[in-house]
Amino acid sequence: MHPTKSYAAAAANDPLNPYIIQRREPGEYDVVIDIQYCGVCHSDVHQVRNEWGNSTFPMVPGHEIIGKVVKIGSSVSRYKVGDIVGVGCFVDSCCECHPCQEGLQQYCENGANLTYNGVERDGKTPTFGGYSTQIVVNEKYVLAIPSNLPLDQAAPLLCAGITTYSPLRQWKVKPGDKVGIIGLGGLGHMAVKLASAMGAEVTVLSTSNKKKEDAIRFGAKHFINTKDSKTFVDYVNYFDFMINTAAGNIDLSQYLPLLKLDKTMVCVGAPEHPSTLNVFPLIMKRRRLAGSLVGGIPETQEMLNFCGEHNITAEIELITIDKINEAYERMIKSDVRYRFVIDINSLR
Ligand code: NAP
Ligand code: ZN
Repeated sequence: MHPTKSYAAAAANDPLNPYIIQRREPGEYDVVIDIQYCGVCHSDVHQVRNEWGNSTFPMVPGHEIIGKVVKIGSSVSRYKVGDIVGVGCFVDSCCECHPCQEGLQQYCENGANLTYNGVERDGKTPTFGGYSTQIVVNEKYVLAIPSNLPLDQAAPLLCAGITTYSPLRQWKVKPGDKVGIIGLGGLGHMAVKLASAMGAEVTVLSTSNKKKEDAIRFGAKHFINTKDSKTFVDYVNYFDFMINTAAGNIDLSQYLPLLKLDKTMVCVGAPEHPSTLNVFPLIMKRRRLAGSLVGGIPETQEMLNFCGEHNITAEIELITIDKINEAYERMIKSDVRYRFVIDINSLR
């Protein structure tokens, strides 16, 4: 075992503080990664605060990890020392169930092993995430990062990128489709960039006018302030597809009528509290409400390659690790432009 520097929350709602974790010696198929950058996802905040009710402590968050391979196990064939690689939201899965066989490891029927706030395949060793200087991961769960992307800005692709890319692909968004993105935070701004690169006509639905210029700069054609009640009259039957990235509850019954007949809203935002739903907007136009969880390993690699080809990365605020608690407070206030990324060198 290797003592490794990290930042951890000792209990729900505690601030994050320096903490030493133990990383395993690399097994036959393991890659040891010196972490350079780690993005800060709102899921980190939800879990540190135990908002989903499944948190275990001490918790070292972080699932938008980019770093350099510094050591490999004896049978590793996909990566070599010196490669720049990424790790996303899970680090293992059963490999045997139907979803795993299909490359949809995030939906593993035996439980994907989350990068943090989870356990290894032994069912008991806790996993610790990317707010740390090193991580040891089986090569099958490690991604290759296109060489043209700046690494700090590419880190958020490992969660915010794939979480929004996957539904755009699954629902086959095509050029000219009118796509609505609810919430312009980490996920939302990636959704705008990705959907625009796919040729969609993107509209951002945001809770203020503050982010309007940015939304247009990221590729959106239109911007709607959802505090303006006219929105929900003017845009009825307008969208071919919507992604809801809001970290808090929205009134789904108010937003669903903005979809055309037969069209779908995919929820990726995972608020603390359940939503209530008036089913009439679904019934009256055979509209659909769906959910989606990150993306599998093959699709994550496809997304990274797509971002490499289209030069797509996140807009980031690079922070040192000691600013992490402040960053959480700002995310809670929807004041993030548009992803905090930790420079892990500040932890060394
Ligand atoms: P974020 O950077 O904090 O952005 C969330 C945005 O949602 C805010 O900037 C704000 O945008 C909007 N928002 C927040 N509270 C709202 C409310 N009460 N009503 C309406 N809009 C609200 O968060 P993120 O990292 O993008 O994550 C967003 C959500 O996705 C979180 O719940 C996170 O846990 C979840 N998530 C899910 C998956 C998955 O696989 N499904 C993966 C990653 C994250 P405006 O200022 O534009 O209104
Ligand atoms: Zn995330």
